[in-house]
Amino acid sequence: MKIYLNGKFVDKEEAKISVFDHGLLYGDGVFEGIRAYDGVVFMLKEHIDRLYDSAKAICLDIPLTKEEMIEVVLNTLRVNGLKDAYIRLVITRGEGDLGLDPRKCKNPNIICIAVPMDPLLGEDGIRVITASVRRLPVDVLPPAVKSLNYLNSILAKLQANYANVDEAFLLDENGFIVEGTGDNIFVVKNNILKTPPVYYSVLKGITRDVVIKLAKEEGIEVREEPLTLYDLYTADEVFITGTAAEIVPVFEIDGRKINNGKIGEITKRLKEKFKEVRKKWGIKI
Ligand code: PMP
Repeated sequence: MKIYLNGKFVDKEEAKISVFDHGLLYGDGVFEGIRAYDGVVFMLKEHIDRLYDSAKAICLDIPLTKEEMIEVVLNTLRVNGLKDAYIRLVITRGEGDLGLDPRKCKNPNIICIAVPMDPLLGEDGIRVITASVRRLPVDVLPPAVKSLNYLNSILAKLQANYANVDEAFLLDENGFIVEGTGDNIFVVKNNILKTPPVYYSVLKGITRDVVIKLAKEEGIEVREEPLTLYDLYTADEVFITGTAAEIVPVFEIDGRKINNGKIGEITKRLKEKFKEVRKKWGIKI
Protein backbone atom coordinates (compact mmCIF):
# COMPACT_ATOMS: atom_id res chain seq x y z
CA MET A 1 0.00 0.00 0.00
CA LYS A 2 1.32 3.41 -1.03
CA ILE A 3 0.30 6.50 0.91
CA TYR A 4 0.44 10.02 -0.50
CA LEU A 5 2.37 12.23 1.93
CA ASN A 6 3.28 15.81 0.98
CA GLY A 7 3.94 15.26 -2.70
CA LYS A 8 5.43 11.73 -2.52
CA PHE A 9 4.08 8.20 -2.51
CA VAL A 10 5.60 6.20 0.33
CA ASP A 11 5.06 2.74 1.82
CA LYS A 12 2.63 2.58 4.74
CA GLU A 13 5.53 1.91 7.16
CA GLU A 14 7.33 5.04 5.91
CA ALA A 15 4.27 7.32 6.07
CA LYS A 16 5.17 9.19 9.25
CA ILE A 17 4.69 12.72 10.55
CA SER A 18 5.99 14.61 13.58
CA VAL A 19 4.65 14.00 17.10
CA PHE A 20 4.55 17.83 17.27
CA ASP A 21 1.93 17.96 14.52
CA HIS A 22 -1.02 19.97 15.78
CA GLY A 23 -3.36 17.53 14.07
CA LEU A 24 -2.21 14.96 16.63
CA LEU A 25 -1.77 17.31 19.58
CA TYR A 26 -5.02 19.26 19.19
CA GLY A 27 -7.14 17.69 16.44
CA ASP A 28 -6.22 20.78 14.44
CA GLY A 29 -6.92 19.90 10.83
CA VAL A 30 -9.64 18.85 8.41
CA PHE A 31 -10.46 15.76 6.39
CA GLU A 32 -12.71 14.08 3.86
CA GLY A 33 -13.91 10.52 3.41
CA ILE A 34 -14.59 9.72 -0.26
CA ARG A 35 -15.48 6.57 -2.20
CA ALA A 36 -14.60 5.32 -5.65
CA TYR A 37 -16.95 2.92 -7.43
CA ASP A 38 -15.80 0.97 -10.47
CA GLY A 39 -13.21 3.52 -11.53
CA VAL A 40 -15.25 6.65 -10.76
CA VAL A 41 -14.54 8.81 -7.70
CA PHE A 42 -18.06 9.60 -6.54
CA MET A 43 -18.86 13.32 -6.10
CA LEU A 44 -15.13 14.11 -5.93
CA LYS A 45 -15.52 17.79 -6.80
CA GLU A 46 -18.12 18.26 -4.06
CA HIS A 47 -15.87 16.57 -1.47
CA ILE A 48 -12.95 18.80 -2.47
CA ASP A 49 -15.17 21.90 -2.22
CA ARG A 50 -16.24 20.87 1.30
CA LEU A 51 -12.62 20.17 2.29
CA TYR A 52 -11.56 23.67 1.25
CA ASP A 53 -14.57 25.22 3.02
CA SER A 54 -13.68 23.33 6.22
CA ALA A 55 -10.07 24.53 5.90
CA LYS A 56 -11.16 28.11 5.29
CA ALA A 57 -13.39 28.03 8.36
CA ILE A 58 -10.37 27.22 10.54
CA CYS A 59 -7.92 29.54 8.66
CA LEU A 60 -5.89 26.64 7.32
CA ASP A 61 -4.33 27.51 3.97
CA ILE A 62 -4.01 24.42 1.83
CA PRO A 63 -0.89 24.83 -0.35
CA LEU A 64 -2.46 23.07 -3.36
CA THR A 65 -5.16 24.19 -5.76
CA LYS A 66 -8.41 22.24 -5.84
CA GLU A 67 -7.37 20.83 -9.25
CA GLU A 68 -4.08 19.62 -7.78
CA MET A 69 -5.94 18.05 -4.85
CA ILE A 70 -8.19 16.18 -7.26
CA GLU A 71 -5.03 14.81 -8.95
CA VAL A 72 -3.69 13.73 -5.53
CA VAL A 73 -6.80 11.60 -5.00
CA LEU A 74 -6.78 10.17 -8.54
CA ASN A 75 -3.05 9.41 -8.41
CA THR A 76 -3.38 7.66 -5.04
CA LEU A 77 -5.92 5.32 -6.61
CA ARG A 78 -3.79 4.85 -9.75
CA VAL A 79 -0.61 4.08 -7.81
CA ASN A 80 -2.43 1.49 -5.71
CA GLY A 81 -4.32 0.01 -8.69
CA LEU A 82 -7.68 0.57 -6.98
CA LYS A 83 -10.99 1.04 -8.78
CA ASP A 84 -13.23 0.58 -5.74
CA ALA A 85 -11.98 2.18 -2.56
CA TYR A 86 -12.57 4.31 0.48
CA ILE A 87 -10.29 7.34 0.37
CA ARG A 88 -9.23 9.42 3.36
CA LEU A 89 -7.85 12.86 2.61
CA VAL A 90 -6.32 14.55 5.68
CA ILE A 91 -4.86 18.04 6.04
CA THR A 92 -3.24 18.74 9.40
CA ARG A 93 -2.08 22.17 10.61
CA GLY A 94 1.45 20.74 10.57
CA GLU A 95 4.36 20.64 12.98
CA GLY A 96 4.41 23.28 15.70
CA ASP A 97 5.50 23.27 19.31
CA LEU A 98 3.66 22.45 22.53
CA GLY A 99 1.92 25.84 22.57
CA LEU A 100 -1.55 26.16 21.10
CA ASP A 101 -0.70 28.92 18.62
CA PRO A 102 -1.49 27.87 15.01
CA ARG A 103 0.92 30.54 13.69
CA LYS A 104 3.78 28.27 14.80
CA CYS A 105 2.73 25.66 12.24
CA LYS A 106 4.17 26.71 8.90
CA ASN A 107 3.60 23.65 6.70
CA PRO A 108 0.36 21.70 6.66
CA ASN A 109 0.71 17.95 6.16
CA ILE A 110 -1.27 16.54 3.25
CA ILE A 111 -2.09 12.85 3.45
CA CYS A 112 -4.14 10.64 1.14
CA ILE A 113 -4.91 7.00 1.96
CA ALA A 114 -6.98 4.64 -0.20
CA VAL A 115 -8.11 1.18 0.89
CA PRO A 116 -10.75 -1.33 -0.22
CA MET A 117 -13.64 -1.10 2.27
CA ASP A 118 -17.09 -2.68 2.52
CA PRO A 119 -20.02 -0.56 3.73
CA LEU A 120 -19.07 0.38 7.29
CA LEU A 121 -22.22 -0.83 9.06
CA GLY A 122 -22.97 -3.78 6.79
CA GLU A 123 -25.83 -4.10 4.29
CA ASP A 124 -28.58 -5.13 6.73
CA GLY A 125 -30.55 -2.84 9.00
CA ILE A 126 -29.01 -1.40 12.16
CA ARG A 127 -30.03 -0.88 15.78
CA VAL A 128 -29.51 2.58 17.23
CA ILE A 129 -29.68 4.38 20.57
CA THR A 130 -29.90 8.08 21.35
CA ALA A 131 -26.67 9.25 22.96
CA SER A 132 -26.86 11.31 26.16
CA VAL A 133 -23.94 13.42 24.90
CA ARG A 134 -25.23 16.33 22.76
CA ARG A 135 -23.95 17.30 19.30
CA LEU A 136 -21.62 20.28 19.32
CA PRO A 137 -23.52 23.58 18.99
CA VAL A 138 -22.85 25.63 15.84
CA ASP A 139 -21.32 28.42 17.95
CA VAL A 140 -18.87 26.06 19.69
CA LEU A 141 -17.34 23.87 16.99
CA PRO A 142 -19.64 23.88 13.96
CA PRO A 143 -20.36 20.30 12.83
CA ALA A 144 -20.32 21.74 9.28
CA VAL A 145 -16.53 21.86 9.65
CA LYS A 146 -15.24 18.35 9.03
CA SER A 147 -12.41 18.77 11.50
CA LEU A 148 -10.03 16.14 12.85
CA ASN A 149 -11.61 16.59 16.27
CA TYR A 150 -14.14 13.73 16.32
CA LEU A 151 -14.30 13.25 20.10
CA ASN A 152 -17.95 14.34 20.17
CA SER A 153 -18.82 11.48 17.81
CA ILE A 154 -16.52 9.07 19.63
CA LEU A 155 -18.23 9.75 22.99
CA ALA A 156 -21.56 8.93 21.37
CA LYS A 157 -20.15 5.82 19.66
CA LEU A 158 -18.82 4.57 23.01
CA GLN A 159 -22.38 4.68 24.33
CA ALA A 160 -23.59 2.68 21.31
CA ASN A 161 -20.83 0.14 21.95
CA TYR A 162 -21.76 -0.19 25.65
CA ALA A 163 -25.41 -0.64 24.68
CA ASN A 164 -24.34 -3.28 22.16
CA VAL A 165 -26.02 -1.56 19.21
CA ASP A 166 -24.60 -0.38 15.87
CA GLU A 167 -24.85 3.39 16.03
CA ALA A 168 -25.81 6.38 18.22
CA PHE A 169 -27.92 9.37 17.18
CA LEU A 170 -27.17 12.76 18.72
CA LEU A 171 -29.55 15.51 19.83
CA ASP A 172 -28.64 19.18 19.61
CA GLU A 173 -28.73 21.51 22.60
CA ASN A 174 -32.49 22.11 22.04
CA GLY A 175 -33.36 18.43 21.96
CA PHE A 176 -33.79 18.07 18.20
CA ILE A 177 -32.27 15.00 16.63
CA VAL A 178 -29.43 16.06 14.32
CA GLU A 179 -27.15 13.28 13.08
CA GLY A 180 -25.35 10.04 13.79
CA THR A 181 -21.67 9.73 14.73
CA GLY A 182 -20.66 9.69 11.05
CA ASP A 183 -23.90 9.89 9.10
CA ASN A 184 -27.02 11.91 8.38
CA ILE A 185 -30.54 10.83 9.34
CA PHE A 186 -33.67 10.54 7.19
CA VAL A 187 -37.22 9.57 8.16
CA VAL A 188 -40.20 8.70 6.00
CA LYS A 189 -43.69 9.50 7.29
CA ASN A 190 -46.77 9.23 5.07
CA ASN A 191 -44.54 9.07 1.97
CA ILE A 192 -42.77 12.34 2.83
CA LEU A 193 -39.01 12.21 3.25
CA LYS A 194 -37.68 14.37 6.09
CA THR A 195 -34.20 15.23 7.31
CA PRO A 196 -32.86 17.83 9.76
CA PRO A 197 -31.87 21.13 8.11
CA VAL A 198 -28.18 21.97 7.86
CA TYR A 199 -28.48 25.22 9.83
CA TYR A 200 -28.71 23.05 12.94
CA SER A 201 -25.75 21.02 14.20
CA VAL A 202 -25.45 18.91 11.08
CA LEU A 203 -22.65 18.14 8.64
CA LYS A 204 -23.89 18.83 5.11
CA GLY A 205 -23.40 15.26 4.02
CA ILE A 206 -22.67 14.68 0.37
CA THR A 207 -24.63 11.42 0.42
CA ARG A 208 -27.43 13.42 2.06
CA ASP A 209 -27.44 15.85 -0.88
CA VAL A 210 -27.44 12.98 -3.38
CA VAL A 211 -30.36 11.25 -1.61
CA ILE A 212 -32.38 14.49 -1.56
CA LYS A 213 -31.75 14.93 -5.29
CA LEU A 214 -32.66 11.32 -6.10
CA ALA A 215 -35.84 11.51 -4.00
CA LYS A 216 -36.95 14.67 -5.83
CA GLU A 217 -36.25 12.98 -9.18
CA GLU A 218 -38.44 10.10 -8.02
CA GLY A 219 -41.27 12.52 -7.26
CA ILE A 220 -40.96 12.06 -3.48
CA GLU A 221 -41.71 15.15 -1.39
CA VAL A 222 -38.64 16.17 0.63
CA ARG A 223 -38.71 18.41 3.70
CA GLU A 224 -35.71 19.71 5.61
CA GLU A 225 -37.20 20.41 9.01
CA PRO A 226 -36.35 19.96 12.71
CA LEU A 227 -37.10 16.44 13.92
CA THR A 228 -37.71 15.15 17.43
CA LEU A 229 -37.31 11.68 18.88
CA TYR A 230 -41.10 11.34 18.60
CA ASP A 231 -40.76 11.78 14.81
CA LEU A 232 -38.19 8.99 14.72
CA TYR A 233 -40.04 6.58 17.00
CA THR A 234 -43.26 6.97 14.99
CA ALA A 235 -41.69 7.02 11.52
CA ASP A 236 -42.68 4.58 8.78
CA GLU A 237 -39.04 4.26 7.73
CA VAL A 238 -35.72 5.57 9.04
CA PHE A 239 -32.35 5.35 7.33
CA ILE A 240 -28.91 6.86 7.57
CA THR A 241 -26.59 8.12 4.85
CA GLY A 242 -22.83 8.59 4.73
CA THR A 243 -19.87 7.91 2.48
CA ALA A 244 -18.52 5.07 4.62
CA ALA A 245 -21.93 3.60 5.52
CA GLU A 246 -23.75 4.44 2.21
CA ILE A 247 -27.54 4.04 2.77
CA VAL A 248 -28.53 1.83 5.71
CA PRO A 249 -32.04 1.21 7.05
CA VAL A 250 -32.58 1.65 10.80
CA PHE A 251 -34.61 -1.21 12.31
CA GLU A 252 -34.69 -0.14 15.95
CA ILE A 253 -34.25 3.10 17.89
CA ASP A 254 -34.12 3.09 21.71
CA GLY A 255 -35.98 -0.25 21.70
CA ARG A 256 -38.75 0.93 19.31
CA LYS A 257 -39.00 -1.21 16.17
CA ILE A 258 -39.19 0.70 12.89
CA ASN A 259 -41.24 -0.86 10.07
CA ASN A 260 -41.22 -4.16 12.00
CA GLY A 261 -37.49 -4.43 11.48
CA LYS A 262 -37.70 -4.53 7.69
CA ILE A 263 -36.40 -2.24 4.96
CA GLY A 264 -39.13 0.18 3.77
CA GLU A 265 -40.22 0.75 0.16
CA ILE A 266 -38.83 4.28 -0.16
CA THR A 267 -35.50 3.30 1.44
CA LYS A 268 -35.26 0.39 -0.98
CA ARG A 269 -36.02 2.60 -4.00
CA LEU A 270 -33.45 5.20 -2.97
CA LYS A 271 -30.81 2.51 -2.36
CA GLU A 272 -31.39 1.18 -5.88
CA LYS A 273 -31.20 4.66 -7.45
CA PHE A 274 -28.02 5.33 -5.46
CA LYS A 275 -26.41 2.18 -6.86
CA GLU A 276 -27.20 3.40 -10.40
CA VAL A 277 -25.71 6.89 -10.03
CA ARG A 278 -22.64 6.12 -7.94
CA LYS A 279 -20.70 4.89 -10.97
CA LYS A 280 -21.77 7.94 -12.99
CA TRP A 281 -21.63 11.03 -10.79
CA GLY A 282 -17.98 11.71 -10.32
CA ILE A 283 -14.53 11.89 -11.88
CA LYS A 284 -12.97 8.93 -13.73
CA ILE A 285 -9.68 7.60 -12.42
N1 PMP B 1 -22.21 13.49 9.68
C1 PMP B 1 -20.99 13.24 10.19
C2 PMP B 1 -20.68 13.67 11.58
C3 PMP B 1 -20.03 12.59 9.41
O1 PMP B 1 -18.81 12.34 9.89
C4 PMP B 1 -20.37 12.16 8.09
C5 PMP B 1 -19.35 11.44 7.26
N2 PMP B 1 -18.58 12.33 6.50
C6 PMP B 1 -21.66 12.44 7.61
C7 PMP B 1 -22.56 13.11 8.44
C8 PMP B 1 -22.07 12.05 6.22
O2 PMP B 1 -21.43 12.84 5.26
P1 PMP B 1 -21.06 12.29 3.82
O3 PMP B 1 -22.31 11.78 3.21
O4 PMP B 1 -20.52 13.47 3.10
O5 PMP B 1 -20.05 11.22 4.00
